[in-house]
Amino acid sequence: MNGGAAISDGDGDVLIVVDVQNDFCPGGALAVPCGDEVVPAINRLAEKFRHVVLTQDWHPRRHLSFASTHPGKRPFETVAVSYGPQVLWPDHCVQETPGAAFHKDLHVPHAGLVLRKGMDRAIDSYSAFYENDRTTPTGLVGYLRTRGIARVYLAGLAFDFCVRYSAEDARRENFIVFVVEDACRGIDLDGSVASTRSSLAALGVPCIPQP
Ligand SMILES: [Zn+2]
Repeated sequence: MNGGAAISDGDGDVLIVVDVQNDFCPGGALAVPCGDEVVPAINRLAEKFRHVVLTQDWHPRRHLSFASTHPGKRPFETVAVSYGPQVLWPDHCVQETPGAAFHKDLHVPHAGLVLRKGMDRAIDSYSAFYENDRTTPTGLVGYLRTRGIARVYLAGLAFDFCVRYSAEDARRENFIVFVVEDACRGIDLDGSVASTRSSLAALGVPCIPQP
């Protein structure tokens, strides 16, 4: 165990559980391999935290990130949009559909906030902090700061997209950040797991086992 990652059992730590939704689990529209394996790990991990935030990818139909919105394009291709390159995905996590619901076995009754993201049809949002234009805030920074949070622990799906972007933004906002890699699973598109590890290492964000 990484000594610096010990949870203080106090008010200064938060666990952010990223996108543990049916569409990202086996059988879902954008299944992360073994994505459901994070559920028991997160249930155990969350018991150690007083503050927990759940994020929920929550798209309108015809969202810009859906390949089906772009004639002739297929999932996992990349297109140029107003804020830069955007990977296209299968339709997923459409608002109020079963695929957008949390995995049925996720059990975090004391979570204080469910943060939805990706509602703007014209901007994708991997990160829990900023949409993919990197400038539109979700408000989570203010939520955490007003609660005196200093350290952010991240777990969930997918390690190399929404967990990565959330960790990077949290670090840029000067939180102390840990990614609990045992409680994450990745998509690994074109080496994205390896590039996530190197990016997080460069930012001083440790990937730790379950504390
Ligand atoms: Zn999405």
